[in-house]
Amino acid sequence: MAFEEEDFLQIAGLQHFAFCRRQWALIHVENLWRDNLRTVEGELLHKNAHDDTYTERRGDTLTVRGERVFSRTLGVSGACDVLEFRLHPDGVTLPGQEGLWLPYPVEYKRGSPKEHSADELQLCCQAMCLEEMLCCPIPEGSLYYGETRRRVKVPLTEELRRTVRDDLTEMHQYASRGYTPRVKPSKACNACSLKEQCLPALLRRRSVQDYLERSCEEL
Ligand code: SF4
Repeated sequence: MAFEEEDFLQIAGLQHFAFCRRQWALIHVENLWRDNLRTVEGELLHKNAHDDTYTERRGDTLTVRGERVFSRTLGVSGACDVLEFRLHPDGVTLPGQEGLWLPYPVEYKRGSPKEHSADELQLCCQAMCLEEMLCCPIPEGSLYYGETRRRVKVPLTEELRRTVRDDLTEMHQYASRGYTPRVKPSKACNACSLKEQCLPALLRRRSVQDYLERSCEEL
């Protein structure tokens, strides 16, 4: 199956979806957004990482910033913060450069490495797009964290790739129905930039449908 461009989802949405399916739908289906300190800091870091005009060669590595990527198979598009090309026999040819170059995506994040895999999923999806665009394998990428100022290598495993595909399948289903799922409020709600719009307290209450279903069962 190949998606049309108008149905493409944002790659960055994968991290929202991993954090909370409802948050992703509020942002990407209902187009709600609210800045908080975390999102503003994150945007500033990305602004510094993205510079569409920047290309640099150092030894065996060529660095490009803000490279647009997409996949018709996955139905997504986005941009790589930093995309390195490293001389490698499995790589691809690049205009104006001799030799074969293997892409190596690097995603910039504020804070430090997290317990969940939202950042890894976003990076893996970028790599899957590049593999489809350039027809070459990308076995690894890196996450750079602003707080620790360190790169963390991420092996792009089959398990990570499967999660990307499964999440995107579910996201496309919600997007095509224009549906915002209800979820159980959790401690993640405290750090959520949309908690006022989402009103998690209301999610704890029974919906009218739940009430009617329970009433029917009791009769
Ligand atoms: S407030 Fe909680 S339930 Fe609502 S979108 Fe945010 S994380 Fe999800």
